[in-house]
Amino acid sequence: MFSRFYPAEMAESSYDIDYEGLYKKGYRGLIYDIDNTLVEHGNDANEEVIELFRRLRKIGFRICLLSNNKAPRVRRFYRGVSVKGVRLHYIFNAHKPSRKNYRRAMLVMGTTKKNTLFIGDQLFTDVYGANRTGIRSFLVKPINKREEIQIVLKRPLEKIVLFFFRKDRLNRLKNTNLVLIGFMGTPKAEVGRKLAASYGYNFIDTDRLIEEKMGMTVPEIVAKKGEDYFRDLETIVLKELALKGKQNVIATGGGMPMRNKNQKLLRKLGYVICLGIEPKHAEERVKDAPYRALLPEDGKQLERMVTERMFVYRMIAHHVIAVDDLSEDEIVGEVERCM
Ligand SMILES: [Mg+2]
Repeated sequence: MFSRFYPAEMAESSYDIDYEGLYKKGYRGLIYDIDNTLVEHGNDANEEVIELFRRLRKIGFRICLLSNNKAPRVRRFYRGVSVKGVRLHYIFNAHKPSRKNYRRAMLVMGTTKKNTLFIGDQLFTDVYGANRTGIRSFLVKPINKREEIQIVLKRPLEKIVLFFFRKDRLNRLKNTNLVLIGFMGTPKAEVGRKLAASYGYNFIDTDRLIEEKMGMTVPEIVAKKGEDYFRDLETIVLKELALKGKQNVIATGGGMPMRNKNQKLLRKLGYVICLGIEPKHAEERVKDAPYRALLPEDGKQLERMVTERMFVYRMIAHHVIAVDDLSEDEIVGEVERCM
């Protein structure tokens, strides 16, 4: 009923989207709403925006601002970015959700419906317009809490649409598995169990599965048979899970996604969600982990390991959640929101 307002994806913020991954998938053009999407309503471009756009340009994206706001406001914002040497386009008085200026944005960027993405904070203008034009859209949480009155009035309606959106997504989920990846010490199993309970799915922990099969703990397997042997077991388990059907929540070992073969198997298995952490928080996370002995003792080495792994996790995950400041229940909420 409301599907024409549904975003293709939802993200915590414009700054929290896996742009590298999207570029790899073939996307080349990014159209941005400005107010509450990039900065608080009416604010000038800040360091964060400039840094983001610089990064996006470096990846290879073309960027166009598309705002319903008036010329002086949009130009001021545009200048704030362009004086820093970052190239982008802008369109003011866009009349979103009218299709006309989404098309113009693609024309100035030289991109197509297939390789362009739209990022905005409102359903009935931003996302609806993108959908009408045939462009994939990201809905982000509005930056500003103090919003203009005409936007505030629309928020309750947005909530209703988003309720149906999530419900529909859950129904689609019936045909898939949910796969949680992340570094040792992230609450993959705890969150996985809660998600399984809320969806009525089975919960599977690959480490436990291997331990049951072998009658040994993971550290024992690694100590007795070596890490390669353990990784082989992980690959076998993934292949078995592929035959197990759908509606499982699967928590994986932190090292599992590092093997090329496993990456493909994980993606095949279902919707992959990464519980992401900052490398500097790794030590704190793993200090009580039962497999702590399998990790480097040196703090710097540990951080390097997390950085490397996060790079791979990001590549294969459909969605990344930054979990450093979140409780288990908040992570569950984030997963449900992104599904
Ligand atoms: Mg906006």
